[in-house]
Amino acid sequence: METRLNYIDGGWTPPSSGTYADNVNPADVRETVGRVPLSTPEDADAAVRAAHRALPAWRAASGAVRGELLLRAALLLEERAEDVARSITREMGKTLAEARGEALRGAAILKYYASEGLRANGEHIPASDGTSLLFTKRLPLGVVALITPWNFPVAIPIWKMAPALAYGNTVVLKPATNAGLTAARLAELFDEAGCPPGVVNVVHGSGSDIGGALTAHPLVDGVSFTGSNAVGARIARIASERGAKYQLEMGGKNAVVVWGDAELERAADLVVSGAMKSAGQKCTATSKVIVAASAKERFAQLLLERIRAIRVGDGMDPNTYFGPVATPAQRDAVLQAIRRGAEEGARLLHGGGAPDRPELQAGCYVEPTLFDRVTPETSLAREEIFGPVLALMEATDLDEAIALANGTEYGLSAAIFTGSLKTAMTFANRVEAGMIKVNGETAGVEYQAPFGGLKKSSSHSREQGRAAMEFFTHTQTISISV
Ligand code: NAP
Ligand code: MG
Repeated sequence: METRLNYIDGGWTPPSSGTYADNVNPADVRETVGRVPLSTPEDADAAVRAAHRALPAWRAASGAVRGELLLRAALLLEERAEDVARSITREMGKTLAEARGEALRGAAILKYYASEGLRANGEHIPASDGTSLLFTKRLPLGVVALITPWNFPVAIPIWKMAPALAYGNTVVLKPATNAGLTAARLAELFDEAGCPPGVVNVVHGSGSDIGGALTAHPLVDGVSFTGSNAVGARIARIASERGAKYQLEMGGKNAVVVWGDAELERAADLVVSGAMKSAGQKCTATSKVIVAASAKERFAQLLLERIRAIRVGDGMDPNTYFGPVATPAQRDAVLQAIRRGAEEGARLLHGGGAPDRPELQAGCYVEPTLFDRVTPETSLAREEIFGPVLALMEATDLDEAIALANGTEYGLSAAIFTGSLKTAMTFANRVEAGMIKVNGETAGVEYQAPFGGLKKSSSHSREQGRAAMEFFTHTQTISISV
């Protein structure tokens, strides 16, 4: 069993509380995988001060120099992808195949941002006197706090850290406690890649203690958060009160519309994978599917065939389609949402509980679950579940389908399956989502493109690609006259 420490000012430090959290394996909760620090606000303060001391030299370094660090970290992550992937699977349960994909995506994101410091990042604007040089440039925010969830324990920290560092900020990462063993490996990568002391710091501990302390800290210039809406709302309030910049990526209730002219088999494959991979614990997971009435019976059959074939099990087993959900609390919350859906009158077509296979009894498993006859005002149609649960609805025309897709406070991703360009364009023009796919699954993002949601899914800023520059920099306007 491993015991991890905080990474502060280039060194490994135990929490000043002297206490640690046990991270258990959700595939078998009798196994403790390792221990992560339960730090105090004093530890968070030490990390912020280290990041603040490191800032002048890091912001003065050239983009090329900053990029070197990211590139070296990328190469180390590639080398260690297998170890990192095993850590992900053992700590939060997703399958080893998905965890490997995530580790390699982390490396790809680092590589993408390694050259970002050399790309054009300002504008030349014609001056009104016709002779002055009027232009913009980008300044780093300063010290940024990054607060991340457990569902993508490599990709999300990296898609925040890489642009933050590339644009000249120094970083304090507060990872989700139940994904802290994986986050500690990221700290190790940066350390071995030659990160100057204080440029990257990782402080483990409870969100309300450490996340709260970072958000309120006067030396923290920006907070980038991914997680639940309840926590996001607190962060927004605290950050805005003291004038700090903040960015929030939160929940989703992502809809797929399957129209009568779609390739139904392919649509069923991608709806099931969007809903069930990672046990539905992706912010972009497919959560409801709205089917044209003419195709409904056939499509329900195609879904059922695929869902019945899903093998739930330990993520380490190569035959597993999806593993346990991340924690016992997460399993209880998902089972509770399923019970509520049934009470509200939806018809259960498959699953609905914990699997009864004896070898799964010590894990946080939930059966793949499909509900039919879900009505628009119920929780299954409106609320995020973050589990392997899919709600099936029916629409008689495209207006109704779009209204059903939009019938939620969230607006992260949405998809339509259709052979008609007109249907696809109508949907794309009217669906309320930050990311839209035509004939693709709702989950899965391209790191070189903007990522984020509408409505309550995000604070209206975007991550990834060049869009990350908007959050991690200030624009400065300069005029030079002679
Ligand atoms: P969460 O409970 O909000 O936790 C996210 C992070 O915030 C964790 O590091 C947590 O620490 C910390 N935290 C908790 N309370 C805090 C507080 N009072 N102040 C500051 N930080 C605090 O979310 P989760 O359960 O880990 O993740 C699931 C949620 O994330 C879902 O709603 C999902 O949709 C969303 N998500 C969104 C995206 C996106 O890009 N839109 C991507 C992935 C996930 P501890 O957990 O260690 O206490
Ligand atoms: Mg939580």
